[in-house]
Amino acid sequence: MPDAGKPFGGIHHVTALASDPMRNVVFYTQVLGLRLVKRTVNFDDPNTWHLYYGDGAGGPGTILTFFPFPGLPAGRHGNGQAVETAFLVRPASLSFWIDRLVTQRIEFEGPTERFGQKVIRFRDPDGLQIEIVADAKAKVAAGWDGMPVPAEHALAGFHSVTLWEQGYERTAQILTEALGFRTAGEEGSRFRFVSGRGDGTPGHIVDIRCSPDFWRGAPGAGTVHHVAFRAADDAEELQTRERLAAAGQNVTPVLDRKYFRSIYFREPGGVLFEVATDPPGFAVDEPAASLGGKLQLPRWLEPRRDEIAAKLPELAPEAG
Ligand code: ZN
Repeated sequence: MPDAGKPFGGIHHVTALASDPMRNVVFYTQVLGLRLVKRTVNFDDPNTWHLYYGDGAGGPGTILTFFPFPGLPAGRHGNGQAVETAFLVRPASLSFWIDRLVTQRIEFEGPTERFGQKVIRFRDPDGLQIEIVADAKAKVAAGWDGMPVPAEHALAGFHSVTLWEQGYERTAQILTEALGFRTAGEEGSRFRFVSGRGDGTPGHIVDIRCSPDFWRGAPGAGTVHHVAFRAADDAEELQTRERLAAAGQNVTPVLDRKYFRSIYFREPGGVLFEVATDPPGFAVDEPAASLGGKLQLPRWLEPRRDEIAAKLPELAPEAG
């Protein structure tokens, strides 16, 4: 159980950089079978898409988001980045995914074994490293009408993210003292941290892979921009902010991201972390049944809708 006053600490969402937005949508919806739960813009750069994929409900712990910039050069994976993003499936679904990757002509490695679980790994069209981990505790993902893979095999949110770091101690301190994780073992140069629940709830694991002499990563297409952790509500977010500030972190003020409220800080190993509230969630501006169907804008950009829509790169047609 989580310590009193400490947050749950699981992963809320992961945000990465991509190049071609259409190719990104096709891969994550048609190949990986995720739901496009929100098509909106980068609130800090409204001529760029911000695409959110998740399970049918758009639940925290299932959300992978992208800023796709057409023509963006590839980044370089290295220290100071969240490099691997792993999804959960139940062990009986691993062969389904192997068959699916073969059919879709996606090269993959594995299955290999890590902490007693089978892992397959591959890359998205921009080179982002994706893993699928078979976990006996994985739950069946929330479905939706028209989901492209059978519900019992669908990716059931995040298993983990793996941070590549020079060393793990200072990042471990932030994870355990401010974000609700606890140490859960090591395997080779990989150090595992799990959040309070550890019961198959999506997003409860962070791994740190230590390579003291490896090069630093560089941002670009196919790299993770930031990892967001969950706060149950605004009060918990503010408590987490105080804990981070007390630990010497420079933390932003709370920012309204429409679907959640967020604070950001760069953890000691160099990865941009966010803490995002579970509420209000993705059904705040469109019905749960038609999530992701239409371009949604925050209230302050709504007056510029026509101009913004005209400048955005082409995407799959609106629906719903
Ligand atoms: Zn974020």
